[in-house]
Amino acid sequence: MRASAYPLIDADDAASLVLEHTPVLGAENVALADAVGRVLARDLVAGGPLPAFPSSAVDGYAVRTADAGGVLRVLGESAAGRPFEGTVAPGTAARILTGGVVPEGADSVVMVEDVSVSGDQVTVPKGLLAGTNYHQVGDDVMAGVQILRAGVQLGAAEIGIAAATGHAQVPVRKRPRIALMSTGDELVEVGKEARRGQIPDSNRWALLAALREAGADVNVLGIAPDEARALREVVVDSLQHADALVTSGGVSVGTHDLVKPLLESLGSVHVGRVKLKPGKPFTFATLEGGRIAFGLPGFPVSSLVTFEVFVRPALRKMQGFAQLHRPRLAVRLGYDARASADRTEYQRVTLRREGRELIAETTGSQSSSRLLSLAGAHALIKVPAGDQSLKSGTVVEAMILSLP
Ligand code: AMP
Ligand code: MG
Repeated sequence: MRASAYPLIDADDAASLVLEHTPVLGAENVALADAVGRVLARDLVAGGPLPAFPSSAVDGYAVRTADAGGVLRVLGESAAGRPFEGTVAPGTAARILTGGVVPEGADSVVMVEDVSVSGDQVTVPKGLLAGTNYHQVGDDVMAGVQILRAGVQLGAAEIGIAAATGHAQVPVRKRPRIALMSTGDELVEVGKEARRGQIPDSNRWALLAALREAGADVNVLGIAPDEARALREVVVDSLQHADALVTSGGVSVGTHDLVKPLLESLGSVHVGRVKLKPGKPFTFATLEGGRIAFGLPGFPVSSLVTFEVFVRPALRKMQGFAQLHRPRLAVRLGYDARASADRTEYQRVTLRREGRELIAETTGSQSSSRLLSLAGAHALIKVPAGDQSLKSGTVVEAMILSLP
């Protein structure tokens, strides 16, 4: 073991440094069929009003309010997509169906339930109000207004409104292309027999899932040995088609830990150690061509927690998300959260509802090798460094992963 040359950086400062050096990717147009989950790159504006014509909300008769209480002659029908082209003159009406254009001259629609019909005559009730039972032009969306803001993620409703306003394609941010690599001579492919001293490369799959969930397009490089030249070759080659590199393992101060010197030789290391538990050896570098690299620690929980704290917000910045961080909610601790003396700790908790409150309970041993502390966790609780524990009953902010 040798002492690390990298300064220990405060966890929040490290997170800011990462975001500062993370670029926003370019935009591309995609068809609506490919738009789900993507992030809008520009504000979307309605080219025209919605609805574009006065549109009946019910089945009934389009009439003039001045004819209320009268017996009217029915001139024709205005069905959805098949408008009645004439004018509703005094003493007349037009049959109208939901979605049909309210004809010229009419200023009200009477529901079919409220009239009596005999041949081509219809009797309408007294006291009709102008503008009832139909949508005026621009009631839903006025022409020229911003309908969706840059930075929103496109879901069903957003894609629906884009389609309704005539956008067959939408401008979205490119998805980050990530080269993902595990390092370590002890790693074997999952499913292959592990000899004594070997362990399955579980981080690859955990990080692949986390990256995909965060919108990345991942190139899985597999396992690189703890050998400087081989490691360098894999990394340099993969970077040709990647916006960022994510590695796990090989960032602590053991003599076989080669990722930091490699990143140092390929660019600038901005974060080499963090006052963070778990995840002290987390490493972040900028490389040439605007690329970035994350050296995540090998311990499974450390790699996923540093992913949450540093990588996920960066991936969201690359994709142009307006909201970079997980939602935060006030929760009441149901346990004493012991602080770490010199490092900010992200403890994993489950949440349960008690009345109007959310109560946080620890997921058990917070060892950085114990993935079960993260499986099923609803939130991360940030426990500031110091000799004070956060006592049971304290209200703290939780970083929400999923709600119970
Ligand atoms: P390192 O950061 O390389 O010193 O690794 C720290 C610990 O994490 C060691 O116990 C490793 O065996 C373990 N580890 C490293 N890489 C992986 C991986 N890909 N999957 C599961 N465990 C790993
Ligand atoms: Mg290692």
